[in-house]
Amino acid sequence: MYVYADNAATTAVSPKALEAMLPYFSEVYGNASSLHSPGQRAAEGLQRARETVAKAINADFKEIYFTGCGSEADNQAILSGAALGARKGKKHIVSTAFEHHAVLHTLEKLKKQGYEVTLLDVHENGVVTPDDVAAAIRDDTALVTIMMVNNEIGTVQPIADIAKVCRERGVLFHTDAVQAVGHIPVDVKALDVDMLSMAAHKFHGPKGVGALYARKGVPLVNVIEGGQQERGKRGGTENIAGIVGMAAALEEATADLDKDMAYVTGLREKLIEGLSKIPHSRLNGDREKRVPGTVNFCFEGIEGESLLLLLDARGIAASSGSACTSGSLDPSHVLLALGLPHEIAHGSLRLSIDRMNTEAEIDHIIESVPQVVDYLRGMSPVWDELERGLTPHLI
Ligand SMILES: *Cc1c(COP(=O)(O)O)cnc(C)c1O
Repeated sequence: MYVYADNAATTAVSPKALEAMLPYFSEVYGNASSLHSPGQRAAEGLQRARETVAKAINADFKEIYFTGCGSEADNQAILSGAALGARKGKKHIVSTAFEHHAVLHTLEKLKKQGYEVTLLDVHENGVVTPDDVAAAIRDDTALVTIMMVNNEIGTVQPIADIAKVCRERGVLFHTDAVQAVGHIPVDVKALDVDMLSMAAHKFHGPKGVGALYARKGVPLVNVIEGGQQERGKRGGTENIAGIVGMAAALEEATADLDKDMAYVTGLREKLIEGLSKIPHSRLNGDREKRVPGTVNFCFEGIEGESLLLLLDARGIAASSGSACTSGSLDPSHVLLALGLPHEIAHGSLRLSIDRMNTEAEIDHIIESVPQVVDYLRGMSPVWDELERGLTPHLI
């Protein structure tokens, strides 16, 4: 058995999405900007996909801009909010310390251009409060950008309440909903957000395609200059196959969302219960305010990297946090933002499951992780010191 439990990094393209995409690699190869009939067939596929994606988040199709990935959607949203603010002399942006690097690095770039950035504390439970946001907003605040679901620990932020604060103060609000769309209900009207990012490959669509929702009237700046594609806001011949695959995957992911959420939540509860039995372990992030599929644990006295390699050998694909930071020896910025000490943040394990996982797979994880943790602790000088009482246990 090989268990794929790294769906927060990326997911398999679903058979339905793949089937929807295939004609757009062969028969329907036209350029959607061309006036001839092959081009028009591609344009029709593009339009249908735009309507499907819009419907899934309760938007108008004119409010959907397809991008090359979730990161691009984040970049475009933030740069647009920053540019709009600058025109009114506002150069302050509010975000959080545990955003995805697509957000944090864009904010770093803006800081070099004279913007001021306030990164909110995310508390020990990994949830920002609307009061934190209200306190951080100033007269010169151009934009608030806060993720809907954290990609490493799975906590869900009170986006509707935060959006309300922003609306009352007349500040533009963007949410990176890449880990939310297709996994929990996302309704842009109910949330009342101005901009929202998503990525197809996080909900069983293909990699290399994302979308930015921008409410009517929110002026976007281009990240890619070029032709008149995407209402002039994103140059480049559209990735029609990818876009069609994204729409098909999203339609599928949202068709039975309540049922799927209940199923995945059941598996997750079993996972949490099983792994919590490991001594000196800790579940990171709020126990309740979380997306159905993502859990993140710390195990004292071991290195996350060795844990991942041994789990892979035992047929489990997991992650130590973000796929983007694996390979670096720095502990996760998300776990540090929760206030965890470096020693603890190093021994983290993220398991992200979804509707494609089975109960037998969860059993395999619950059986394997404690064995691997025991084995690694048996060889760990750090664990030895902890056990001999030379250093105090932190968890
Ligand atoms: C994956 C992810 C992104 C980036 O999406 P890409 O399509 O890989 O660029 C951005 N934000 C969050 C929260 C993510 O999980």
